[in-house]
Amino acid sequence: MTTTPRQAVDFPIDTHMHTAFSHDSNVLLELYAAQAAQLGIREIVITDHVDFMPGTPGYRYFDYDVRRKVIHDTAERWAGKVVIRHGVELTYEIRYEEEIGEYLRKHSFDYSIGSVHAVPDSPYARANIATFVSGKTVAQAVAPYFTEVEAAARSGLFDTIGHLDQCKRWLQPWFSPADFATIPESYEPLLIALVESGTALEVNSSGLRYPERETYPGPWVVARFRELGGERVTVGSDAHLPSSFAFGLEEAAEIVAAAGFDRLSLERAVDRGDLTLPDRFRHR
Ligand SMILES: [Zn+2]
Ligand SMILES: [Zn+2]
Repeated sequence: MTTTPRQAVDFPIDTHMHTAFSHDSNVLLELYAAQAAQLGIREIVITDHVDFMPGTPGYRYFDYDVRRKVIHDTAERWAGKVVIRHGVELTYEIRYEEEIGEYLRKHSFDYSIGSVHAVPDSPYARANIATFVSGKTVAQAVAPYFTEVEAAARSGLFDTIGHLDQCKRWLQPWFSPADFATIPESYEPLLIALVESGTALEVNSSGLRYPERETYPGPWVVARFRELGGERVTVGSDAHLPSSFAFGLEEAAEIVAAAGFDRLSLERAVDRGDLTLPDRFRHR
């Protein structure tokens, strides 16, 4: 990446951000709306966490009805300036798939992200990772994460899969993005699962804020997804702070456009002509 990532300006959408309805953010929705209006981000999707492992901080954290009302009321106040949508980021784990499906049947959202996180008993949790990584190759080190991600894509429960290879962040002390680029065969089943299930690939720009300085996933993975017949991509900042809002979306859009996509997607099976990438990304 030659440019310094910054907050995007004049951009169709940021599909991924957290507010005080997430256990790990304190941002008021109003603040994102004000920034969106100022920067010219026309649509924002609020995607607070819902986790399913009992005893964890994000376990069924927000009250669905209260949050829905706050998002709805804020959306009404900003109507005509910014479109505000009612999304969610669900922590996916194979062992909770049934419960997640039930949650989604009982609660309606405009948009759902399924993401694999470092839950407390995961090999990637801070307390476990050094022991886990010891003696492993990069392919072995990503395997538990990628197994969960592939199952999330296959489940067909979500509009998109969030931060496809976020384990890059936790594995950074041992493996660099260049090491990840040596294991295309590990990514292949994930990308095929996305294509076959019609699930969108999210290009999550939060990695640009961390030492690995690469989106989740990186450019070559997005290009491969396209080659395999992938049709739907989204971009999201995964902001937990106001300063991260819309951060790196220009870079994410460059990656998406270079891979051959001319538009972004939101809901599964809905083709939104208004999410076409701005002209400045479409001259290659
Ligand atoms: Zn996440
Ligand atoms: Zn997130």
